[in-house]
Amino acid sequence: MHTILKKYFGYDAYREGQESIIEQIVSGQDALIIMPTGGGKSICYQVPAMMLEGVTVVISPLIALMKDQVEALLQNGIPATFLNSSITAQEMRTRLEGISQGEYKLVYIAPEALMTSQFTRLSRHLNIQLVAVDEAHCISQWGHDFRPSYKNISEWIDQLGKRPIIAAFTATATKEVREDILELLKLRDPFVKISGVKRENLIYKVIRPTKKYDYLKEWFEKVPKEHTGIIYCATRKTVESLTDKLKKEGYSVAAYHAGMSTEARNKTQDAFMLDKKQIIVATNAFGMGIDKPDVRFVIHYNMPKNMEAYYQEAGRAGRDGEESECLLMYDASDIVKQKLLIAQGTNDPIRYRMMLSNLQALVQYCHTSACLNGEIMRYFGEPDPETQCGYCGNCLDTSELIDETLTSQKLLSCVYRVGQRYGMNLVIDVLRGSKAQRIIDWKLNEVSTYGILKEKSVQELKDLTMFLIAEGYLSITTDEFPVLKLNALSQEILKGQRTVMMKQSQRHVSSSKSKKT
Ligand code: ADP
Repeated sequence: MHTILKKYFGYDAYREGQESIIEQIVSGQDALIIMPTGGGKSICYQVPAMMLEGVTVVISPLIALMKDQVEALLQNGIPATFLNSSITAQEMRTRLEGISQGEYKLVYIAPEALMTSQFTRLSRHLNIQLVAVDEAHCISQWGHDFRPSYKNISEWIDQLGKRPIIAAFTATATKEVREDILELLKLRDPFVKISGVKRENLIYKVIRPTKKYDYLKEWFEKVPKEHTGIIYCATRKTVESLTDKLKKEGYSVAAYHAGMSTEARNKTQDAFMLDKKQIIVATNAFGMGIDKPDVRFVIHYNMPKNMEAYYQEAGRAGRDGEESECLLMYDASDIVKQKLLIAQGTNDPIRYRMMLSNLQALVQYCHTSACLNGEIMRYFGEPDPETQCGYCGNCLDTSELIDETLTSQKLLSCVYRVGQRYGMNLVIDVLRGSKAQRIIDWKLNEVSTYGILKEKSVQELKDLTMFLIAEGYLSITTDEFPVLKLNALSQEILKGQRTVMMKQSQRHVSSSKSKKT
């Protein structure tokens, strides 16, 4: 094992965990390996591939990565090839012929290509000892990156002459996803290894600036020019407008989203890999499979759709183990936007509820005053989550707790008085005693809560409303125009059975006096 590591990969020692995984796989046991991005999963199937007879098939959804991995293996003297839609029919035939002649130790294949008649026919006669399923969470509908083609894997394995060892790898998997992987890949008595979701070198922060863009610019003033990183946005439109703005300010920046041509996307990707651009502004289309070790920051300009997606995207920072920052910026509209996307994205009520609750976990992460590392560890089911990592934005935040019970009661009672029929902006208008035409027209200036919080700013009331929603103290519908509704916890607050405590820093910060920078 050590000779192979040194001879082919040039490393002196295995990282923690790698050795036992390799031993289990080589001894013939199925495996489910959950290891953080950058943890070193590839070695865990590449070394067994060299130790076992015959060929190892690696199933990967990442066409770009496949090519890189195969090139790296070839450079190390390991015979490998890949099959996917990027190669010509002629090249495909040549490679299939090579595979049937036993020329390769590793064959990377896209899941869509598994069930092509040529490959299925060929694979029945091959001596396939190991099937490594990379990014195995893609098999689960509950995962953040479901790929229907992953469902082919089991069917393909079933028709092989002899059942190979199956090893599944992923960076993130909640309990549901883990169960799906075990079931859908039909793993037999697998060796399961969940190794630390905690990334010691990542500094997580959550921030709710009044003006995101100003905050961002100020943040960049402290970032050395040689530090490269990614800014994720929720939509292509935001990617484009933010890229333009930063470009005009003289930043070294390029955009990436799925609406761009392949050529333009490749150009951005290359510029990033070669450090020719400092900042990539992108949708979530960017990053999967991009193995740049020295990404120093990952900023989310909008809130992503759930905790898994966040962990995965933020996890692209600091693969080299050096200190890196993961900054999540969000505001109320991000949550509303994500809820709408969820509502539009599915008709299945079970899936809808699941996705909403996944989003809710991230909303809570945004609002919590607890250790952010601990929140992530708890979410991913680590048995012993952190209580105080001492270096995340929240652990470093020393702002005081403020009792907002009375203001909350006024706000909730206004929601009740206007008949639980309106959204946040209108309720705030009523509370502040606005003379807007619609308030007068709808006689909302006659309700008893009209003007009872006129001393508060719109922003303060928005912060409080969002906080109440995030804590589950107030409900919001997922319609196109979301409506505020009271729930059981709202009633408890109204009856004085529950207090509302909010950290000073959970209010909006204007860019220059942020506590959470
Ligand atoms: P993952 O697939 O888990 O995200 P990789 O397999 O790409 O991670 O490994 C991340 C980085 O760590 C790669 O650059 C890889 O070469 C390196 N690496 C993996 N194992 C070792 C090891 N035992 N010693 C040194 N470097 C390693």
